[in-house]
Amino acid sequence: SKEQAERMKLYNQIQETKGIPNSKRVFCRSRPLSREEASAGYATVTDFDGAKDGDLGIVTSGFTKKTYRFDRVYMPKDNQDDVFADASPLVISVLDGYNVCIFAYGQTGTGKTFTMEGIENNRGVNYRTLELLFRMIEERKDAFTYNVSVNVLEVYNEQIRDLLVNSPASKKLEIRQDIGGINHVPGIVNAEVENIREVWNVLQAGSNARAVGSNNVNEHSSRSHCMICITVRARNSMNGECTKSKLWLVDLAGSERLAKTDVQGERRKEAQNINRSLSALGDVISALASKSSHIPYRNSKLTHLLQDSLGGEAKILMFVQISPLEQDLGETLSSLNFATRVRGVELGPAKKQI
Ligand code: ADP
Repeated sequence: SKEQAERMKLYNQIQETKGIPNSKRVFCRSRPLSREEASAGYATVTDFDGAKDGDLGIVTSGFTKKTYRFDRVYMPKDNQDDVFADASPLVISVLDGYNVCIFAYGQTGTGKTFTMEGIENNRGVNYRTLELLFRMIEERKDAFTYNVSVNVLEVYNEQIRDLLVNSPASKKLEIRQDIGGINHVPGIVNAEVENIREVWNVLQAGSNARAVGSNNVNEHSSRSHCMICITVRARNSMNGECTKSKLWLVDLAGSERLAKTDVQGERRKEAQNINRSLSALGDVISALASKSSHIPYRNSKLTHLLQDSLGGEAKILMFVQISPLEQDLGETLSSLNFATRVRGVELGPAKKQI
């Protein structure tokens, strides 16, 4: 039956998770041309001939092609199902007690929100991940008791805002370390959720709160990091063993550099803060890979918040989103270089987090 086939697929995914040799993967996704762009005949630079092998070609000038390699390269025709199929084994990792961090990186307008949040009737990674999470919790309920809670945060100009608090002018939030060495944000709202409907309502509320107090919602969201944290506590009914794991779903601020004509005031400060936090992310992942004795988590709120979900025991999945257009070539190369730096390094072997 269909139900059985679905179940088999899940079990295969479990096996697949156990076999994943690398705890960090980078997937590249290009948005398709819009109808207008296609009919206007815009020039493109993307070459998907090697996509099946994880190679993405970029035509950097008339005769020169640069090839990038990722763990997955999606073709513009690949849909949300195809993308989620590759991300779904991480749900099992979360239930098994690993910290997981899934994030979307790239220039504004390249499909970060499309990949993570999705659009109406075509949901993205966030919904699908949570839906599978609750489905698997149900399947495992004889063996485990699970407790799930959610935080929805925004980091804007190096300030953390709790999107689940009603008043936008909430108190200043800071990151503290508890006795177990785990970071947390005192005073933040932890929404307890029991099913996909509840968690989706919470995320919807967070998304609505994001719009409050900004003149232009799209602009604001492109300049802030949207961070969803799902905390899963599991208790093994047989032996009483408990694990706690976190799943971060992060839609990063746009990675584009500031235009030379737009270097004044608030915009400049925003751009510097975005730049700083995205470079901090790259620096932290590089430092982890080179087993550096100092990992500069505290250089940005973003990396500080993600601290225990980036380190050696965590599993990272990054979507690098790009535009196919020639006019965006500069930003595309810069995103692909960033992603290559993130991917090019091994983290330590994954271990179970107790
Ligand atoms: P970002 O979050 O990076 O700023 P968006 O997710 O808002 O970008 O995407 C920009 C536009 O491109 C949106 O209209 C979105 O629906 C569309 N888009 C992006 N990726 C895809 C895709 N894979 N398939 C169809 N439309 C897409």
